[in-house]
Amino acid sequence: LLAAWRQRALILTLVMGVIALLGAWGARHYLNRLALAHQLRQRIEEREQARAEAQIAAAAFQTHLGILITDAEGFILKVNDTFKRITGYSDEEVIGKNPRMFSSGHHNAAFYRRLWRSVMATGNWEGEIWNQRKNGELFPEWLTISAVYDADGNLTNYVATMSDISERKAAEQEIHQLAFYDPITGFANRRLFIDRIGTALKELNRHQRCGALILIDIDNFNHVNDTLGHHAGDQLLQSVARRFGRMLRDTDTLARLGSDEFAVLIEGIDGSPRQTQQLAEHIAYKLLAALDEPISVGEESALVTASVGITIIADSQRSADDYLQQGDMALSQAKASGRRAVRFFDPSMKVKLESELRQALEHQQWRLHYQPQVDRRGRLIGVEALLRWQHPERGLVSPGEFIPLLESTGLINDVGEWVLEEACQQLAQWAGSPLLNRLTISVNISPLQFRENNFLQRVEQVFQRTQAPLEQLKLEVTETLFVEARDDARDKMLSLKALGVRFSLDDFGTGYSSLAYLAQLPLDQLKIDQSFVQQVLESKANAAIVESTIALAKSLSLDVIAEGVEVEAQQAWLMAHGCHAFQGYLFGRPVSVNDIEAAVLAQSYA
Ligand code: C2E
Ligand code: MG
Ligand code: MG
Repeated sequence: LLAAWRQRALILTLVMGVIALLGAWGARHYLNRLALAHQLRQRIEEREQARAEAQIAAAAFQTHLGILITDAEGFILKVNDTFKRITGYSDEEVIGKNPRMFSSGHHNAAFYRRLWRSVMATGNWEGEIWNQRKNGELFPEWLTISAVYDADGNLTNYVATMSDISERKAAEQEIHQLAFYDPITGFANRRLFIDRIGTALKELNRHQRCGALILIDIDNFNHVNDTLGHHAGDQLLQSVARRFGRMLRDTDTLARLGSDEFAVLIEGIDGSPRQTQQLAEHIAYKLLAALDEPISVGEESALVTASVGITIIADSQRSADDYLQQGDMALSQAKASGRRAVRFFDPSMKVKLESELRQALEHQQWRLHYQPQVDRRGRLIGVEALLRWQHPERGLVSPGEFIPLLESTGLINDVGEWVLEEACQQLAQWAGSPLLNRLTISVNISPLQFRENNFLQRVEQVFQRTQAPLEQLKLEVTETLFVEARDDARDKMLSLKALGVRFSLDDFGTGYSSLAYLAQLPLDQLKIDQSFVQQVLESKANAAIVESTIALAKSLSLDVIAEGVEVEAQQAWLMAHGCHAFQGYLFGRPVSVNDIEAAVLAQSYA
């Protein structure tokens, strides 16, 4: 009975066994296939990655920088397209040769010795160098040379990268060329005018010929500017300049020194100082009379008057700045005594002003105002501290009138320290507030102050006393600081930088700084001078300067801020050209600290 059942069970077991074996085999096969597919995918990925890396390397090789690779002996192995474009040579002409073939003869043997010594010692060299293109043209380039070593430390290659900076150089020249003339009137600007006074002083030394400096300030210019607009203001200045120009001889120099301040230099007068004075007075009244007729600006017409300050140039031992200061003092006396006045400088003015300035510190007449600096969205990012003098009779006096005198008397050191301390105290106070602790304060430092021997000590003591967060402090220096004793200035900057302080180069574009030197300074920001910003829409030349300044800042990895932005169109232009920080009347005038704090509060609730 059971035999048939057993047979069936046996067959069933056999069948099940076969099925189990088949299943196991199938599963193994499937797993193998999976593993294989995975391996395949991995290999494809690896290959793609290698290809991508090769592509990146190739792309990196074809950048805007010229690249040249040599073997350990210095023979050229490979150059990229940019290199060929810059130099004009083809692969065949350079491979296997020595890079000496590009040398311009511009640098001496000692230069190259220094270069190679640096490569040997540190593995690197970087600097400006003149080379020669195939067509014989010499050109400046920024060159870096790096030595490449293998895993065992053996030298295998040199890699040189270069960028052609001839365009940058040309732009640099253009900046300085254009910086001599006032873009609105086409007459000389302050810098050229100071130059001319210098020449007149030399002339005085040689031939004993006197001169006169006449400063003219339009009395109600701000009124015209505010009521008829900025454009009308410019037109008015142009007409005034033209009228003044007609009253003068070819040998006289007419300049616009500031917003509504003109200056005339009369040179080579053959008479005594007394006669010179009479002549200058005569010319001054002629200039005033030139304004008697109304001036048409657009549809309207405006009537303006002016005040005049005069000083006689009769002592070649004095400097151009001294004379400008004297003229300024005479001018401020003229303005103080009502419209259409003419005043001569006399030494008692200087004595009086000087003694008043000495007392200002002790009578607490200094005030610090703050002008907003904003980002692209109009958010406040910082302020610039600007000094004001609360004069008991004259009211609030602008720094243009007293900074030069503070500098010439050395008082700038004490007053400058007061400014820094005040600003640092403000930073320390803001540090506790989440709304205010991100604001930076920029403080102007006079070159004379910076050059003082104990400058660093004084500054560090201020930091000690105030415990200000130094990352929020920016010091504004001007290019004149680097005309003399640049290495000293640089060293001092580096010491301050080590404490966290940042540096901004003020009034950029109006000085003489060499780009090669600028690149070595520990700067953080370039500040485009307001004279360029204000003409950016009207003058192509100014636009070009601002554009190249922004490009320059980028190439030196510096921030850039535009000052003197007055209308939205200027801001829009700047933004379109890559400048994203602004300062100017459009965003706010210099105001008290309370007003700044109130503005921040208002912004945070908006
Ligand atoms: P700066 O450092 O170039 O300051 C900018 C000047 O431009 C300020 O004049 C400011 O009021 C003015 N400004 C700002 N926005 C506009 C604008 O949109 N349009 C126009 N037309 N002007 C604008 P401020 O306050 O009269 O100062 C003149 C100069 O005096 C400063 O030029 C700076 O060189 C110097 N200065 C001011 N405070 C100090 C200071 O504490 N120490 C030193 N050493 N110099 C100072
Ligand atoms: Mg400044
Ligand atoms: Mg400035």
